[in-house]
Amino acid sequence: MNVRACRKCRKIIEEDNVKTTAEKKKRSVIKECPVCGSSSFTTFWKGYVLIIDPEKSEVAKSMDVKLPGRYALRLSR
Ligand SMILES: [Zn+2]
Repeated sequence: MNVRACRKCRKIIEEDNVKTTAEKKKRSVIKECPVCGSSSFTTFWKGYVLIIDPEKSEVAKSMDVKLPGRYALRLSR
């Protein structure tokens, strides 16, 4: 599975939860990160954190995460 993560803010781009082919086609052309607007992604990442409440999460603060979601811990490339 080639799940992409944003190189800039490490947001994991969720493309695996689409149900219809039409949705898949639409989703597969995501070219910009929904969080930071960056168009640079990588599929080479390891581990992730699920940020539910960025306001209260120390991890979110240290990663400078402002929106809930899954974020890659390490980017390899
Ligand atoms: Zn981003």
